[in-house]
Amino acid sequence: MPEGDTVWNTARALHRALAGGQLTASDFRVPQLATVDLTGAVVLESAARGKHLLLRFRAPADGPPLTLHSHLRMDGAWRAYAPGERWAARPAHTVRVVLRTSEAVAVGYHLHDLALVPTAEEATLVGHLGPDLLGPDWDPAEAVRRLAAEPNRSIAEALLDQTNLAGIGNLYKSELLFLRGISPWTPVRDVPDLPGMVALAHRLLMANRGRWTQSTTGSLHRGRTSYVYGRRSEPCRRCGATIRKRDQGERVTYWCPACQPGRD
Ligand SMILES: [Zn+2]
Repeated sequence: MPEGDTVWNTARALHRALAGGQLTASDFRVPQLATVDLTGAVVLESAARGKHLLLRFRAPADGPPLTLHSHLRMDGAWRAYAPGERWAARPAHTVRVVLRTSEAVAVGYHLHDLALVPTAEEATLVGHLGPDLLGPDWDPAEAVRRLAAEPNRSIAEALLDQTNLAGIGNLYKSELLFLRGISPWTPVRDVPDLPGMVALAHRLLMANRGRWTQSTTGSLHRGRTSYVYGRRSEPCRRCGATIRKRDQGERVTYWCPACQPGRD
């Protein structure tokens, strides 16, 4: 599952490839947009909102500005190519959209929740999100307020809920709770310092913004980039205990039972 920083990086790559360009062709390969033709639209901006991608256009005719929304979920990706460049080796049936300008070709693979709305109505798609960890309007106090509003929920599930704060996926959730020494099953009401947790989440995502290797340990070496995430049955880097993995809600959680004591 891409985390907020991966989505942010994707938005920036799309912005660099497309912004300012006029579409010479568009090809939507999803039923709900099959008849849409954005030829002539000018790409104004590519932005991330939490884990949602927003591509904003000046409409081809005199219409209002438009926003193309997409979500990567587990398997989605956008790639930008030069015109004539060979595309990555992915099956053609995974292509959901192709946008061409004179300078670039942007291809969206396995995209989810593709929708085209007037930019003024973006809130219908992303208005439910909590404060965006990588957004220009990041509001840590509001994120803490939203987390604290459901005190009996487990902290792991509360951190993944994008309506509390937007941008944390399973990797940052697991790592954050390790770094704070908190069991993932701890009810929100028993987490000693929610503002400190939220501040650390912001620092972790900011530290990884702008690069594709995600690290919470400070190391960018393969196999050393996380404390607990993806390390089931391996020794804890701090105490040597065996890292565990278990389902929690609809997701899995990794944790060190010694460094993160408590009910599990
Ligand atoms: Zn440990």
